[in-house]
Amino acid sequence: MKLKTFTGGIHPPDNKQWSSHKAIENCPLPAEFIVPLAQHIGAPSVACVEVGQHVAKGQEIGSAKGFVSVPVHAPTSGEIVAVESRPHPWGTALPAVVIKPDGEDRWSAELQPADPSDLSVDDMVEKVRQAGVVGMGGAAFPAHVKMSPPPEKKIRTLIFNGVECEPYLTADHRMMLEEPERILRGVALLQYVFGAERVVIGVEANKPDVIDLLEKECAGTPVEIMALQVKYPQGAEKQLIAAVTGGEVPSGGLPMDIGVAVHNVATAAAVTDAVIHGRPLIERICTVTGPAIREPKNLRIRIGTPLSHLVDVCGGLVEEPGKIILGGPMMGFTQLGFDVPSTRGTSGLLLLRSEDVAAQPEGPCIRCARCVQACPIHLLPATIAAYARRDLLAETEEYCAMDCIECGSCSYVCPAAIPLVQAIRYGKAAILAKKRNS
Ligand code: SF4
Ligand code: SF4
Repeated sequence: MKLKTFTGGIHPPDNKQWSSHKAIENCPLPAEFIVPLAQHIGAPSVACVEVGQHVAKGQEIGSAKGFVSVPVHAPTSGEIVAVESRPHPWGTALPAVVIKPDGEDRWSAELQPADPSDLSVDDMVEKVRQAGVVGMGGAAFPAHVKMSPPPEKKIRTLIFNGVECEPYLTADHRMMLEEPERILRGVALLQYVFGAERVVIGVEANKPDVIDLLEKECAGTPVEIMALQVKYPQGAEKQLIAAVTGGEVPSGGLPMDIGVAVHNVATAAAVTDAVIHGRPLIERICTVTGPAIREPKNLRIRIGTPLSHLVDVCGGLVEEPGKIILGGPMMGFTQLGFDVPSTRGTSGLLLLRSEDVAAQPEGPCIRCARCVQACPIHLLPATIAAYARRDLLAETEEYCAMDCIECGSCSYVCPAAIPLVQAIRYGKAAILAKKRNS
């Protein structure tokens, strides 16, 4: 049977062989945690601890400010040694709480498990908010906001994203294989919260071990496991919805507009931890991989672990990397060094050699239309990028630049090596800045 997918997209080498067979290891605690107060979409949290204070593991150290915001929590017990700006993966220095671990790794006594059958939907959503759960696929959008659609937006289909289409990354793969119960309990909780009629876990067909396991685990339940064609960006929200339901989210709209909600499988696991175990989001699975690291691994890391510690735990560098990327090579963020900490959105640390990233000089556009065929949103990337590069923002917007999901497929296929996604990203930022200032 032909596997479902979306139109457009590309087939980059998946390079998952570096780490897909590596079982999850617990990363030892670093000498110091740097916990950024801005880790999610929305208002950053505000520090609620002082230098010299002793905190327990899971204790709130940053309070949420507003509905689209979440608190942050101590990743271990220890002493607050600084509340100051530190280098952040977003490319600037931002406020962070710095903790020196006491070695006891002692949970806060205030965190208590609960029986979900005693909880209302509102109780569950509040527990998820208090636990600081955000979308774990990389976007880091507060989960409680997604779990609170307006009453007129009934969610009929709930999709769990187990696609992990970014090359190199294997964190979700290993989590689905090794911790299916943690994920499936969260799936059931979220189905209850949304009252969804249909529940689907989408997994790319390059993870047959996961598909077999989840089909066995979900036999006799309403949860459907759907094997999807291997294609990038199959894990992007709108493309996953198109593959699973055949529906299209309207331009400028949200999945809830067509009765769909999408959560990552790792978010479902974090919901289990929050609702059933009363535990905040202080750790995640992260793939440390690439040809420039000695021992690629899938690590369970605490949020706030410096990247330098992850490199040490993976045996150090084979050679000085040509590129350091947080996340995957297509949509990840390039870093200047290892002094930044991991955040809730750190699905991977990718270390490439100079020879892997040798830049081809840019040439003129030859009107081959490969970028158009690759674009999963059916945009005209060459046209939008050309307008954006000339600061013609009205035209950039008119050609639907704001619908671009910045997947990089256009840049990947361009034989002229035109930095299309970079130009479009610039155009989008300039349009938003102009709107803010007008
Ligand atoms: S225009 Fe945007 S959405 Fe389309 S391929 Fe390029 S980066 Fe992806
Ligand atoms: S892929 Fe590159 S060369 Fe081909 S039309 Fe698009 S921008 Fe031009």
